[in-house]
Amino acid sequence: MVTEGLLAWYAENRRDLPWRRDRDPYRVWVSEIMLQQTRVEAVIPYYERFLAALPDVSALAAAPEEQLLKLWEGLGYYSRVRNMKKAANQILSRGGFPRTAAELKQLAGFGDYTAGAVASIAFAQRAPAVDGNVLRVWARMARVGESVKAPSVRRRCARDVLDAMPQDADPGLYNQALMELGATVCTPRSPRCLLCPVRAHCGAFAADEAEDYPIAEAQPARPVEEFTVYLIVEKGRALVRRRPDTGLLAGMWEFPHHVDGVRELPCEPVEVRHVFTHKIWQMRGVRAELTGPREGVWADKARLAALPMNSAMEKYRQVLLESGELTDGGAD
Ligand code: SF4
Repeated sequence: MVTEGLLAWYAENRRDLPWRRDRDPYRVWVSEIMLQQTRVEAVIPYYERFLAALPDVSALAAAPEEQLLKLWEGLGYYSRVRNMKKAANQILSRGGFPRTAAELKQLAGFGDYTAGAVASIAFAQRAPAVDGNVLRVWARMARVGESVKAPSVRRRCARDVLDAMPQDADPGLYNQALMELGATVCTPRSPRCLLCPVRAHCGAFAADEAEDYPIAEAQPARPVEEFTVYLIVEKGRALVRRRPDTGLLAGMWEFPHHVDGVRELPCEPVEVRHVFTHKIWQMRGVRAELTGPREGVWADKARLAALPMNSAMEKYRQVLLESGELTDGGAD
């Protein structure tokens, strides 16, 4: 892989993003974790809110879980923030951030990508940081005919990125330049090859096949789970429950579903479809009343608004908050 011209292009074209304004490892780390699976524009307000509430590793290590989940609410993949808290404690125990990718990988939630990104951006270590954008640029330049999801192919990409990193380059800038190229020029659809600083070295461009790489893979169909969500209000409070500490959406709050001891009330059901990476929830939200033992706790209006809930339940929360039926005072 030859990437001559990349750094000069990056110096001219890089977007001004809040996490690029300094190289503090904590800030780099927070941004890199948030940016996994989430668009830059969506991350910015989360990033700013998170840093305002938890400005350093010590604050993160001491934060109660409910605060963390609330700060992460809507970003999804909540295990990321749970792992961040674990890693913050590990960092404090060892007296500070490790500086190399190999050491960073010992921390909770640090995979190859995060370790490489933090090591190179915050500590100027020569380490590759291969995200989906970099994989796409590489697969096109080298016309890689295999799935870029295969671990062996990712490792090959990481080796090539490291080999292509100029000896005198700032490793963090180099990695960010490759990622930026993938995010803004070598985009999944309609790559802007005529603006690309590395097109002279790009195999896919030369063959007029840019959009044929990375090779497409058939996506397995996601199973659809259909169920009813019960919106139960008594004395101005809504019934909610906390999900178990492990598994999908661990520790997040939700309205009851898959329960006995409830009776539907006449109402217009509210349909919500929520797509996870591995399955789809097709929910039918109805008003209901308890006819059996209560499972969960009552939350008044303020408590309901403050609870961390994932976006699958957000629409139902809004229905109740806007219903005018909830009052303040008396949560249990
Ligand atoms: Fe991507 Fe086109 Fe640049 Fe090749 S020339 S790296 S396909 S943008």
